[in-house]
Amino acid sequence: MFTKALFLLIRFLYFFIIFGFISPVFLFSNGEIIVLDSGHSPSNFGALSVSGKTEVEYNDNFTNELKQQLQSSGFKVFLTREIEEEATLKDRVRYSNDIKPVLFISIHHDSAQLQHLKQITLTNGIKTYKTKTPISGFSIFVSKNNKKFGDSFLFAKNVGKNLISLGRKPSLYHAQKIKGENKPLLDFKLGIYQYDNLYVLRKSNAPSILIELGVIVDSEDEFICSHKTYIVEVSKAIAYSVRSFLK
Ligand SMILES: [Zn+2]
Repeated sequence: MFTKALFLLIRFLYFFIIFGFISPVFLFSNGEIIVLDSGHSPSNFGALSVSGKTEVEYNDNFTNELKQQLQSSGFKVFLTREIEEEATLKDRVRYSNDIKPVLFISIHHDSAQLQHLKQITLTNGIKTYKTKTPISGFSIFVSKNNKKFGDSFLFAKNVGKNLISLGRKPSLYHAQKIKGENKPLLDFKLGIYQYDNLYVLRKSNAPSILIELGVIVDSEDEFICSHKTYIVEVSKAIAYSVRSFLK
């Protein structure tokens, strides 16, 4: 069961050498400010996973690890929302623009359109959804309405490349010609989409990306996204992307 997932986890350990050990020696930070935006909030929790966990739990957990990885690289990290806090999209952007970070990174975990999902009932009675056929991988969004679109796209490419080095695949699902999707792919190899109207991307003054780290309505991808090794190694890969983007 989940052979692909186990293979990936072994690969993550291997890449510890690149992202977690060797790279900090060559790429120092100058204490630049990074804003991390953990998507959704306790009252508006986003997607519900196959196992009944909320997206916001995944987002908060990952954001916390990424914060630690960036701090240990010497960056100053600010969060648009602490774990128990509520925040509107407007609050998040205003907070970030006041701080004037060099990068704004919004963290999310993905669902899929209803036509790709079937409803299931968990043993505790909670009803949730599961993919009919596997949908997995990451997606990165940038907005051409962001004032620093060029830099946002460059940073997105950095992140995409490093996630692929870890063995993750881009999910090309958002480019499907179906209602609610049909997003233009700016780079299909790196899973980068143009999504001009995403509020936090278009209103943020800093170079900004929104990343869907995995598809939590898919059993295998949820298994990967919930694994500590994955969370640590993907955080290191993103921290490495930040360092190499700013160098
Ligand atoms: Zn989300």
